[in-house]
Amino acid sequence: MDEQKLKKLQGWVEEARRMVFFGGAGVSTESGIPDFRGEDGLYRQRYAYPPETIISHSFYVHHPEIFFDFYRNRMLYPNAKPNIVHRKLAQWEKEGKLLAVVTQNIDGLHQQAGSKRVYELHGSVHRNTCQHCGKHYSLQEMLQWKGKGVPRCSCGGVIKPDVVLYEEPLDEDVMARALHYIRQADVLLIGGTSLVVYPAAGLITYYRGHKLAVVNKGGAGPVEAAVTVDGPIGQVLEQL
Ligand code: NAD
Repeated sequence: MDEQKLKKLQGWVEEARRMVFFGGAGVSTESGIPDFRGEDGLYRQRYAYPPETIISHSFYVHHPEIFFDFYRNRMLYPNAKPNIVHRKLAQWEKEGKLLAVVTQNIDGLHQQAGSKRVYELHGSVHRNTCQHCGKHYSLQEMLQWKGKGVPRCSCGGVIKPDVVLYEEPLDEDVMARALHYIRQADVLLIGGTSLVVYPAAGLITYYRGHKLAVVNKGGAGPVEAAVTVDGPIGQVLEQL
């Protein structure tokens, strides 16, 4: 990696008091969870329907069996462990450098690594709710349904993962809190995201500072960053 960029980033992290991290699926690929649009991503594999169709609200309503089959086999990774990126961010929070993690991920690995202030824009596989009676179920309970079709509550209702599907709105409270932290960030570090999923990606436009860095395989996409590193985020954060 370019020494100058690394030095600049190191300086920013050293001085940071209100850093915010904004991330996506690329943060967890080093934990063995495939992303959507990266080189080994789910969107490059072949299914009977395109993944973005399967994980849409209307598809979930009309074809729940296919939806849950895809969800269980392609979106649940119960044995994945946090990697250096999750651990580093948790450490920075503990040291008083980092205010919050805003993530598009649904895997819960930031919390598993010890991060406390995590805003999950697209929900979490760890929360699941009966659509009829509102009873909550853990990921472990959902896994017991493996291979048995649509998961159902003891009351007979369908148990839906609290994951934001295409066509569904984002949680307003989570959005407002994420925005609140991004607005006051001294450093905004963006990583492992293609920044093409809206409205989540639009949140970064609320950053007011000049220390904007993007660490992403494939480049910064639409963002004009002061520092851009095209490479594996684990390798970069390990050096910070
Ligand atoms: P994306 O798949 O669109 O983009 C991921 C980006 O990360 C790509 O540009 C890829 O090149 C890059 N990348 C992959 N591995 C990397 C690494 N090791 N270091 C640096 N960059 C790396 O994902 P997205 O932007 O998060 O948006 C798509 C949606 O995917 C989100 O809504 C999210 O909910 C969902 N998703 C989540 C998970 C998860 O929870 N782990 C996994 C897959 C998809």
